[in-house]
Amino acid sequence: MKYEEMRPREINAVLRESPIAYLVWGAHEWHGVHNPTGLDTLKAYHMALDLCRETGGVVLPPVYCGYQTMKPWMGFHHTFEFSKSLVTQFVFEHLENLYDEGFKVMVVLMGHYGGKHVEAVKAGVAQFTEKHRYPKVLAITDYEPASWVQVKGGDHAGRNETSLLLHYRPDLVDLAELPDGELVHARDGCSVDAKEASAEHGAFLAKTFVEQAAPKVRELLAEACRDWPVLVSRGE
Ligand SMILES: [Zn+2]
Repeated sequence: MKYEEMRPREINAVLRESPIAYLVWGAHEWHGVHNPTGLDTLKAYHMALDLCRETGGVVLPPVYCGYQTMKPWMGFHHTFEFSKSLVTQFVFEHLENLYDEGFKVMVVLMGHYGGKHVEAVKAGVAQFTEKHRYPKVLAITDYEPASWVQVKGGDHAGRNETSLLLHYRPDLVDLAELPDGELVHARDGCSVDAKEASAEHGAFLAKTFVEQAAPKVRELLAEACRDWPVLVSRGE
């Protein structure tokens, strides 16, 4: 399932049976004193692995390449800021490579999701889909599938994101490092409800994500497998 750990014969089997590629996009970014800087990427990567277990496919190594991070916003440290054009181009070239390798559905799962960053990623996807009618590309934030059933996720190192990491990697989170009293977003660099995080809430968000996203991905694969041979025979 982890692309970089697979031998050619194993990848070929996936390409025959469920040619889905998951590409996790994150950042190195300040996520409060209680979380590691890779939080965005780490939780999205685990979510992608969970989803891939349901749908089949491969999960690419996560890409740490964020635009519009906490650094330009408020000068937070331990944060890498890349340019918009690089993010767009890097997404586009990943998709081109996956296409060339024969994947029929690609899911770009964004663990870092400032509005302008999402735009940069989607611009890379748009560049690809203008060029190729297939494969289908689904570019979503990791909280979007849960929102389809009105479950709100997606904060910055607050209750939701911190809970997800408490669920997947409790060894990396320490709520005791948070300062006493009320949290302040601009000072602490995290959503103010971070202290309410729990592994149970993280497990709920993770489960909701897979329940909602898996049927959508299966639908895209069915569509691609149905239409693809026709398109290929027409030379499209
Ligand atoms: Zn985050």
